[in-house]
Amino acid sequence: MASNRIFLCVSVAVLAVLSAWSGSLLAGGDEFSVSPTVETDPVSSSGDAADDPCLWIHPRDPSLSRIYGTDKDRGLAVYDLTGNELQFLEDAAINNADLRYNFPLAGKCIALVAGSVADEKQILFHKVDPVTGLLSRAGSIPTGISTYGICLYVSPKSGKYYVCVNSKGGKFEQYHIYDDGTGKIAGKLVRAFSVGSAAEGMVADDFYGTLFVGEEEVALWCYGAEPDTGDDRILIDQTGGDGHLAADVEGLAIYYSVDGTGYLIASSQGNDRFIFYERKLPCAYLATLSLVSGSGIDGVTHTDGIDVTNANLGPAFPFGLFVAQDDRNDEGNQNYKLTPWHRIAGECPSLHIDTSWDPRKVGENKVVRVYTNPIGCVQAGQNVTLTLEEIVETTTPVMLWFGKQLTQDGKIYKPTPFYIGASDGRTEMSFPAPPVENTVTLFIQGLALVDGQTKSSNIIPLTINP
Ligand code: CA
Ligand code: CA
Ligand code: CA
Ligand code: CA
Repeated sequence: MASNRIFLCVSVAVLAVLSAWSGSLLAGGDEFSVSPTVETDPVSSSGDAADDPCLWIHPRDPSLSRIYGTDKDRGLAVYDLTGNELQFLEDAAINNADLRYNFPLAGKCIALVAGSVADEKQILFHKVDPVTGLLSRAGSIPTGISTYGICLYVSPKSGKYYVCVNSKGGKFEQYHIYDDGTGKIAGKLVRAFSVGSAAEGMVADDFYGTLFVGEEEVALWCYGAEPDTGDDRILIDQTGGDGHLAADVEGLAIYYSVDGTGYLIASSQGNDRFIFYERKLPCAYLATLSLVSGSGIDGVTHTDGIDVTNANLGPAFPFGLFVAQDDRNDEGNQNYKLTPWHRIAGECPSLHIDTSWDPRKVGENKVVRVYTNPIGCVQAGQNVTLTLEEIVETTTPVMLWFGKQLTQDGKIYKPTPFYIGASDGRTEMSFPAPPVENTVTLFIQGLALVDGQTKSSNIIPLTINP
């Protein structure tokens, strides 16, 4: 915690210098403009072809992070942070894309890219090579609707992975995705409803369990991201005179901060702007950004797909990155424009920098182990110490409790579960072995609440002699 505070103070000092040259405030205190510093190679298809980017952060060297950009006529391109195209997957008409880390598939945890395919009833998946950041096909699932917008969601309640899609007709479907046991991705429909009219931009918050959907000509809505939350929704903002948005509502992205703060960003296509809101409900409006030309790079118009990260991506983007599709590139076909987050935050007093949230930890499988001292066999009344430990280190406080007294056949030994310990963060508990009439073997399992998810430990036997 102390080191975080020191880091933030340093950031503020850097910003004060940067704000002198990186952009200018427009009329009205909440409107501001900034210039991108990098643009990608143009997409290979002409016309309206680039649409939606997503970011992948390299596990060891963040400067080797990648941008995956759709070419909605042909496939998916992989760019490095200088904008060079490293790979093009000629695949399908992938319209929108999203990414999550730690998806368990075929015995490994992979970074998974999900893509919608305009006018087709399917979702395509690609996996990221953890060294090169290049993509390869990882399967597909059929859907009931033609897929247009897409987002991934990792439930903080269950740890389950979901993919949400919508259609030009305003229909929405949510699928639980998982390894089917043979190393293939399977999808199970868990929710479907109608948004009302054409929808595309979507993003889910893996911390709050919220799902934001852009109904293109109408409004930006917030639904629950859990599959049992129905179709209740909250209006965040609207198009027309009463809102800050100008149709179409397009790409959506979330800037995460470690304390639950951060921003929801919406692409407002009709006026070439990006609208910033508080990430936390009720998502109060904060500011409006234009990406204007500068340093030899043209500005962004007819704004469309976006992505953002708070993470340090190395020397070019030390305080995070905002990436946006550009409808009209001055030299060649459409492309994506890259803007350092500190340029954006440096121009807008409502926005801060926080590089401490680690998106790579979302969905991380933290293994919990329990062991006893003494091991294996004790006398009734003898003191036993249980210890729970996590195999993967976490920076988040861990709440622990112990218990569940099982017999050898798996039935609970006492009618009520036998919990000892408490939710006070202890990882070690001592208790006297309970009295028994005959020799009995207990099977002890620990439960740990880690980052909001309940994790079960291994099960170990403890024999108690009378
Ligand atoms: Ca659209
Ligand atoms: Ca779009
Ligand atoms: Ca442009
Ligand atoms: Ca250009």
